[in-house]
Amino acid sequence: MPATVLVVEDEPAIQELIAFNLKQAGHIVMAAPSAELASRMIKDALPDLILLDWMLPGMSGIEFARKLKGDGYTKAIPVIMLTARGEEQDKVKGLETGADDYVTKPFSPRELNARIKAVLRRRAPQMTDEQVEMAGLALDPITHRVTGDGASVDLGPTEFRLLHFLMTHPERVHSRAQLLDSVWGNQVYVEERTVDVHIRRLRRALEPTQHDVLVQTVRGAGYRLSQRA
Ligand code: CA
Repeated sequence: MPATVLVVEDEPAIQELIAFNLKQAGHIVMAAPSAELASRMIKDALPDLILLDWMLPGMSGIEFARKLKGDGYTKAIPVIMLTARGEEQDKVKGLETGADDYVTKPFSPRELNARIKAVLRRRAPQMTDEQVEMAGLALDPITHRVTGDGASVDLGPTEFRLLHFLMTHPERVHSRAQLLDSVWGNQVYVEERTVDVHIRRLRRALEPTQHDVLVQTVRGAGYRLSQRA
């Protein structure tokens, strides 16, 4: 699934190169030449990931990372620091601010993509485009195909996102509010019982291969995808 990536980098050539590379990888790119401008952009829309240059005019990347991680509104956004410094001490300092990873310039597009993928997988598993599988039920985020024991399962877009989220967060109970947040996003106001409607549709679609039993109701708590009865 495409992620929205905010690139905070003051050197236009590097910013362009990164943006080009991210777009090629299917991501949506926002770019800012300074921490100050990035702050304003974040107020309008939260990105899924921030690529943050260490050396910036005005507020430094390190200061900005610390500010992001100290703010309840932004602290969950994964941050990858970009820097020309390769010293071990600087790396430690970068990670101490709460940055999730660290890439040293010059880096290859392939390396950067791999790091982005790894961080997204860790922080938001449903953002990656890797195929997921459970008990013969398989979901491919790239082709948007779902199969149960090899047979095609027809799902609506919401059921697809719901299943993708559940499959990337298995064996855990999710409340209706959490599912609304993660699957529907925080922009839309949807009632909690909407979740029940889509869970019902999802189960119905999974019935022919009996994968509906994986979608479990946990009374008073929410829903869980589990192989255990
Ligand atoms: Ca710079």
